[in-house]
Amino acid sequence: MIDKDRYINILKELGSNAKLIAVSKYQSLEDIRALYDIGQRDFAENRVQSLLERRESLPEDIRWHLIGHLQTNKVKSIVSFVSMIHAVDSQKLLEAIQAEAAKMNRQMNVLLQMHVAREETKFGLDETELFEIIALYQKGNYPNIQLCGMMGMATNSDDESIVSNEFAHIQALFSKVKMQLNNEAFCELSIGMSGDYRIALKHGATMIRVGSLLFLK
Ligand SMILES: *Cc1c(COP(=O)(O)O)cnc(C)c1O
Repeated sequence: MIDKDRYINILKELGSNAKLIAVSKYQSLEDIRALYDIGQRDFAENRVQSLLERRESLPEDIRWHLIGHLQTNKVKSIVSFVSMIHAVDSQKLLEAIQAEAAKMNRQMNVLLQMHVAREETKFGLDETELFEIIALYQKGNYPNIQLCGMMGMATNSDDESIVSNEFAHIQALFSKVKMQLNNEAFCELSIGMSGDYRIALKHGATMIRVGSLLFLK
C-alpha cells in the first residue's frame, strides 16, 4: 500500500525547490503502479537487475534513475534508456559510461557521488578524485556525458549534527564545482532519503531519494 497523504505532503514540502525521486526497491509492482497512477514519474532502483525487470512491467513514460553502485560491466544494459545515473563513484565507471553512450549516440545524465559518510562501506569519490574528473571533463574527455550535479549519502545516524555537517560539506563542494564549470546543466544536488530529507532540503537538495516513507507496510 502506498501512503498517499504522506506522498502529497512531501510534494508540498518540496514545492518547486526539489524533485521527489521515488525509490521503488523492495516494493511490489502494484504499489509502484499506484504511485504512478497518482502522478509520480521519477522512480529509482539501486540494482541494475531490478531496474531492468521493473521497467519491462511498468509504463514506458517512467523516468528511471539508477541510484546504487554500478559495475562497469553492467553499464551497457542500462545506457539506452536510463534517465540519470546518480552514483558515479570512479573515473573508470565514467569512462565506461562515456564509451557506451557514444556507441548509442546519446548524452547520458550523471551525478558524481561523493563519499562523506563515516561508514567506510559507502561508495563515493574523495575531493581529489572529484577535481581530477572535473578537469578531464573540462578538457573534453567525456563528450557523451552530461554532468548534472552531485549525489551523496549521509551517515546513518540519529545525530542531526553529523548528518547536517556531511550535507553541508557536499553542498560546499557542489557550489565550488558549479562555479568552476559555469554550466547551467550542472544544477542537481541529490541528497536526502526518508530519514534525513528535511535536513537535506536545508542544504540545498534539488532531488531527494525517498523510498520507505511512501509505502505502508
Ligand atoms: C534505498 C535508497 C534510498 C531510499 O531509502 P529510504 O530510506 O527507503 O528512503 C535512497 N538512496 C539510495 C542510494 C538507496 O539505496
